[in-house]
Amino acid sequence: MFKLADTLERDGTLDKEGFAALISGRNPEIALYLREKAAGIRDRVFGKGVFLRGLLEFSNYCRNDCLYCGIRRSNRLAERYRLNLEEILESCREGYELGFRTFVLQSGEDPHYGEYYVSEIVAAVKNTFPDAAITLSLGERSREAYARWRKSGADRYLLRHETRNPDHYKKLHPADMKLSNRLRCLYDLKDLGYQVGCGFMVGSPFQRVSDLAEDLLFIKELSPQMVGIGPFIPHKDTPFKDFPPGDVDLTLYLLSIIRIMEPSALLPATTALGSLDGFGREKGVLSGANVIMPILTPPGARKKYLLYDNKICTGDRAAECRFCVARRLDSIGHGVDVSRGDHPGFRP
Ligand code: SAH
Repeated sequence: MFKLADTLERDGTLDKEGFAALISGRNPEIALYLREKAAGIRDRVFGKGVFLRGLLEFSNYCRNDCLYCGIRRSNRLAERYRLNLEEILESCREGYELGFRTFVLQSGEDPHYGEYYVSEIVAAVKNTFPDAAITLSLGERSREAYARWRKSGADRYLLRHETRNPDHYKKLHPADMKLSNRLRCLYDLKDLGYQVGCGFMVGSPFQRVSDLAEDLLFIKELSPQMVGIGPFIPHKDTPFKDFPPGDVDLTLYLLSIIRIMEPSALLPATTALGSLDGFGREKGVLSGANVIMPILTPPGARKKYLLYDNKICTGDRAAECRFCVARRLDSIGHGVDVSRGDHPGFRP
């Protein structure tokens, strides 16, 4: 195990068997070894500062029907909402005043926000807050739409690949969703000059060790600027309601592996991690993460953006989330970095 960890650090990767062996061989000693390596690398590249991103969940309408997700189209119990341009700008203003210099605009795949409307939103946010970065997370769209939004001022795009194994992908999604299109989107986004984030859920139903090994190989191949991983958490009104949640320690272990593979990646300690474990996000940072995304969504809406059960922060206001995260980081000897937090290799 220790040899595999050292090879990973030296070469920045392993082969599929190597990754599978490292994952299956997980034990407390090797987890600690990887965590210390990963935290050391993160400190060397980024220091102790953790980048904050204000997450604005501006619509929970979705045309997709992902089997794991609480805002899937078939969930008639989800109360739907949309924010208009003015409300989006208002939330960004609140976030700007709280010090956020990245806004992450996320939604279900909502056709109401077409190519031109999104472009208008991006341009308005950019004009109002020219020193802030804009990250979009709106799902699979055409290359033309991605290109237009990039020109309007979008800097980054988050689109988790969810799983790199086509058979596993089919078990998590309805037949009309294709892994090939998701991958096409990721390569288009990279090509268009976005800072791109892929990622996956840990412990999603039917996930095997070999699937995780393929996910890690895919990260190496795509070489994204960001990688979002978090545990799967069941949602009571989805077909996966009876599956167990993903494992927090395995999530932390994979965070450390990804940090060692991609020393300068932007790696969030996710809300899902914090929802499964009261100290999940702190543990994530201690395992190599360097980004936290406090929620900026206005109070009425945030209770409705429920991808999974028992999500944290649904009753808080933006300022509470912002300062709660700062306190938590303080408690583990880290601090908030309020700069835009671009990837070190990114030229705007
Ligand atoms: N619609 C957009 C963004 C919203 S979903 C998109 O498709 O990219 C954001 C992420 O939440 C998904 O990529 C998925 O990995 C994660 N997610 C969805 N349901 C979840 C669940 N039940 N537990 C944990 N994470 C979940």
